[in-house]
Amino acid sequence: MILDGKCPKGPLAEKWDSYRHDLKLVNPANKRKYSIIVVGTGLAGASAAATLAELGFNIEAFCYQDSPRRAHSIAAQGGINAAKNYRNDGDSIHRLFYDTIKGGDFRAREANVYRLAQISNHIIDQCVAQGVPFARDYAGYLENRSFGGAQVSRTFFARGQTGQQLLLGAYQAFCRQVQAGRIRVRPRTEMLDLVVVDGHAKGITVRDLVTGEIRCHAADAVVLASGGYVNVFNLSTNAMGSSVTAAWRAHKKGAFFANPCYTQIHPTCIPVTGDHQSKLTLMSESLRNDGRIWVPKKKNDSRTPDQIPDGERDYYLERKYPSFGNLAPRDIASRAAKEVCDAGHGVGSGRGVYLDFAEAIARLGEDTIRARYGNLFEMYQRITGEEAYRQPMRIYPAPHYAMGGLWVDYNLQSNLPGLFVLGEANFSDHGANRLGASALMQGLADGYFIIPYTIADYLARITPGQGGTDAPEFRASLEQIGATAERLLRINGRKTVNDFHRELGHILWEDVGMARSEAGLNQALRQIPALREEFWNNVRVPGRGQDLNQELEKAGRVADFLEFGELMAVDALHRNESCGGHFRVEHQTAEGEALRDDKNFSYVAAWEYGGVNEPSRLHKEPLAFDDIELSVRSYK
Ligand SMILES: Cc1cc2nc3c(=O)[nH]c(=O)nc-3n(C[C@H](O)[C@H](O)[C@H](O)COP(=O)(O)OP(=O)(O)OC[C@H]3O[C@@H](n4cnc5c(N)ncnc54)[C@H](O)[C@@H]3O)c2cc1C
Repeated sequence: MILDGKCPKGPLAEKWDSYRHDLKLVNPANKRKYSIIVVGTGLAGASAAATLAELGFNIEAFCYQDSPRRAHSIAAQGGINAAKNYRNDGDSIHRLFYDTIKGGDFRAREANVYRLAQISNHIIDQCVAQGVPFARDYAGYLENRSFGGAQVSRTFFARGQTGQQLLLGAYQAFCRQVQAGRIRVRPRTEMLDLVVVDGHAKGITVRDLVTGEIRCHAADAVVLASGGYVNVFNLSTNAMGSSVTAAWRAHKKGAFFANPCYTQIHPTCIPVTGDHQSKLTLMSESLRNDGRIWVPKKKNDSRTPDQIPDGERDYYLERKYPSFGNLAPRDIASRAAKEVCDAGHGVGSGRGVYLDFAEAIARLGEDTIRARYGNLFEMYQRITGEEAYRQPMRIYPAPHYAMGGLWVDYNLQSNLPGLFVLGEANFSDHGANRLGASALMQGLADGYFIIPYTIADYLARITPGQGGTDAPEFRASLEQIGATAERLLRINGRKTVNDFHRELGHILWEDVGMARSEAGLNQALRQIPALREEFWNNVRVPGRGQDLNQELEKAGRVADFLEFGELMAVDALHRNESCGGHFRVEHQTAEGEALRDDKNFSYVAAWEYGGVNEPSRLHKEPLAFDDIELSVRSYK
């Protein structure tokens, strides 16, 4: 099937404005007759729930944490982009649009990305009005810094805690509506199924994580804002609970999964130290504003960094990409780190490079560096025992972000009517690689500024309040979710859920990670089904289903990763080109850069679920570029 992204016609800069004018509205008195389920209370979900409730809709908001404000968005460190051009350094909506399309290696929809760049400016105004304490300069104006893939300073930040401050802003707006009775919060509740009635999303099935109760909730529409899936790699920078479960269960009910092979491996994370680890820690990209990345020129150099003179260091990003230097985009910086480490120049365990602040401290003073990045340096010190003011940080790439996700059209609606997907959970506007500080921008654009218009257009076309949970589809879902939990508890095998997650992560990191080959992907496609088979025969899930059971929760999530990981590999194998974070070793330039094949692969790959151990069906949404020319992506 050829998919239609439903992008409006007309000049790029006017599409969103004129389209909004054509969308149907729900009159204020009728809004209270509609109910909407919002799964997720991160930046995308909280902003959507607060805004929709403010408009008068009835919202039921779900999250698995004990409080909505603990959503993973709280971990975001470095900042949020907007095309305000406060620095007068040449920024514009068009430049942010172009940088984002180019950053994503020309694999995103033009119309969506332009809209995102337009809305970026409203987001900053909205958040400032909420009281988000963005950093300010001496005169009191909002301060900016630079992120990868841009030559302007357009990133607004609150020290190294931007996500937390933005989420507190959204959470206050959310709580106002809880108080007003228009949002009902369901914390510690995990969505385990999407219920589809007559082809429309009409509700969800959940497990109460405290009591173990499995029950259904019905609504006129469902909004999924359940975050990204890179915990499929086991070790990642994401929160431990981040999973693909909500999206994957919706996929199994008919929602297409787009570009699952587009995963972002972030270049600056604290390196892995061993199998005992359960997660990895990001050192924000903002550090690359002042930190310089280097490795010793000599292979296997065992000297400490202070013993290596400047002439014997390879500042490889500055050497290879002189115009962007240390602020080369993430996919490029990660591959460059892998390349120097593979060649024997890695530091520490051999899987590490230096991020060095000595020059910046000498130029700006330690106090300035402390003011800019103090909390990141402290986090680094607590984890490694090393003082980055005195010696360079050691960093290495790690899984960080999912560019793939559920397929949505320009309305953020999936192919299932009534199911809308926001934030990192959708396949998003970032193409094959996301630029730093653009995830927060996209999640908040989706939640504060897009969904209020587009969901109203859907609701205005249906009769409100039709659905209770009486339809047979709800009963069937309830039974199936209960039976799956029982099945997991009965296996009583010898390996823990973590053992399986670790093995899956290892397979994916080796063969579906930073470099992918046909042989490696085929190997992964043999190993993953075998591991899944073993999981269903040999996993041990202690305890029972009728109360708090975190092993059972994890088992369900890992079971989904074992299915989803296979789709990632299938997608990576079929995309016989390199683009952004998807690097097929067979397709590279003489200089080792990603080599796209626009003639054959300029499309969004949207997969339809075919069943466990059955092939998925590929649908394509062609990507048309009317306003920009496709070019070789260069940061040299
Ligand atoms: C360490 C780190 C630093 C980052 N720094 C930046 C940055 O500086 N700038 C930037 O732009 N981006 C950054 N990012 C990326 C950005 O933080 C995320 O992409 C973004 O916050 C995702 O927001 P979200 O609302 O889509 O999902 P999340 O914040 O992940 O929220 C998901 C929500 O869904 C709920 N949920 C999930 N599954 C279920 C389920 N089955 N049932 C019920 N509820 C469920 C969760 O409880 C949660 O409330 C960073 C990411 C990491 C990991």
